[in-house]
Amino acid sequence: MTRALMWFRSDLRVRDNTALAAACRAASDGPQGGVVGLFVVSPGEWAEHDFAPVKVDLMLRTLRELSASLAELNIPLVLAEAKTRHDVPSLVLAAAKQHDCDTLHFNLEHELNERRRDERTIEVFEAAGLKAGAHHDQCLSTPGDVRTGEGRFFTVFTPFKKASFKRMYEQGVPEVVPVPRPQAKIDIASSPVPGVVPGFESSVDPALWPAGEAWAHKRLAKFCADAIVPYKARRDFPGVDGTSKLSPYLTIGAISHRQCIAAAIEANPKSRAPLDVGPEGITHWISEVLWREFYIHIMVGFPRVCMGRAFQPATEVIRWNDDDRAFEAWSEGRTGVPIVDAGMRQLARTGWMHNRVRMITAMFLTKNLFVDWRKGERWFMRHLVDGFLASNNGGWQWSASTGTDAAPYFRIFNPISQSQKFDEQGEYIREFVPELADVQGEAIHEPWTLPGLLKMKLDYPAEPIVDISKSRERAIEAFRDLKQG
Ligand SMILES: Cc1cc2nc3c(=O)[nH]c(=O)nc-3n(C[C@H](O)[C@H](O)[C@H](O)COP(=O)(O)OP(=O)(O)OC[C@H]3O[C@@H](n4cnc5c(N)ncnc54)[C@H](O)[C@@H]3O)c2cc1C
Repeated sequence: MTRALMWFRSDLRVRDNTALAAACRAASDGPQGGVVGLFVVSPGEWAEHDFAPVKVDLMLRTLRELSASLAELNIPLVLAEAKTRHDVPSLVLAAAKQHDCDTLHFNLEHELNERRRDERTIEVFEAAGLKAGAHHDQCLSTPGDVRTGEGRFFTVFTPFKKASFKRMYEQGVPEVVPVPRPQAKIDIASSPVPGVVPGFESSVDPALWPAGEAWAHKRLAKFCADAIVPYKARRDFPGVDGTSKLSPYLTIGAISHRQCIAAAIEANPKSRAPLDVGPEGITHWISEVLWREFYIHIMVGFPRVCMGRAFQPATEVIRWNDDDRAFEAWSEGRTGVPIVDAGMRQLARTGWMHNRVRMITAMFLTKNLFVDWRKGERWFMRHLVDGFLASNNGGWQWSASTGTDAAPYFRIFNPISQSQKFDEQGEYIREFVPELADVQGEAIHEPWTLPGLLKMKLDYPAEPIVDISKSRERAIEAFRDLKQG
């Protein structure tokens, strides 16, 4: 008789779940067999890894949905609580023993601490004479499988993307794993899922992020029906609802890369044609999902990025500005630069920020204020509903010119021209910076150009916190000095 323990982590779904399908295949039929689901509530580990309360809230609400879906498969979901991440392996083993499970299945996570935790878990299971099966599930291709001609990890996105597309033509797109059939009924009750975990009380309206796998699929289907074809033309405008907003669901694994790619292919009227034929929006969206895949591969190939180290080691010597006052103004959305403040307030109010504005705010912090990218990375992680180490670190290091595919250091976004180009009418700014709601015309991008009296009436900084062109020169010089050694 085999009873399998399925350990859920960042894969909170029953459809297309490699480890869950394997656990169900391994389990024997009958009341002594079956599958038990496990989730470890791990506030110490979450705090250490800067999980945002809004993300934990979405996880807990999704767990409730997951528990209901598992019940339909006769799989109970039990919860255990770990004080620190070091306690997790023995806790998982204790759960296996308590519920008479002789085999463990889980999907791999690729962050360094998570990898070490999983290796330790396998060790304790083997030492106890039990089996543990780790499965690759997060990416279309196992990290490290897509390599350059010389057998190295790609360090630049475009060639990685080309190689990934080529692989999909040659080997086919990995298939979505079917939902397992219901298991034999077993006599184990599911645990209640807490409404909140102390230390992670979220102030974001939960209605902004409906929970669960079913909702993620609804969102994907709607995006594919209405917005994927014009995606390329609309994706850069923060005032337009032109992107999928699926990142929180990918982060907690309520939906998978495979399911996203399958839906995008299905949406293509030339669906049997190669992946890059048909509406540009579809190909472009697939390549955005590949950015996520790329950063996971980077994390595996260059684990130093998980340890706060720069991807480009030469940039480690940069002496960033330690100005706490500037960092605080940035984080609170009161820099006096409307597009930056709008982005930071969107993050605080909703737990999410539009990709274009993530780049603008990150460049402003690192290039204009010259604050260490690690401080911004951490702030984002602590507030994002989609906080994901690989993508967050990748985005921050890209913006700071310390990362992969680094934007050349001399190409620094000007936040004013970005604002004029991507929020031309200022709708996005007005939504998130209500002090500027009545400002008309071009001044919405640079309210300091308003006549004195009008400016005084605004409850908004009279001038930007930093001189944009001088600070730009300072950043260029710092990087130029670095290049010249
Ligand atoms: C400084 C910075 C920090 C970021 N931090 C995170 C983070 O913590 N978590 C996160 O998921 N994304 C992060 N991103 C990437 C990107 O901003 C978000 O994935 C995107 O805004 C999510 O919105 P969406 O789901 O509507 O995306 P869509 O435009 O609909 O794209 C579909 C999916 O592709 C992936 N994707 C899109 N753009 C990127 C990208 N540039 N890098 C990696 N994956 C991408 C996402 O999973 C996204 O859900 C960051 C980007 C920057 C510049």
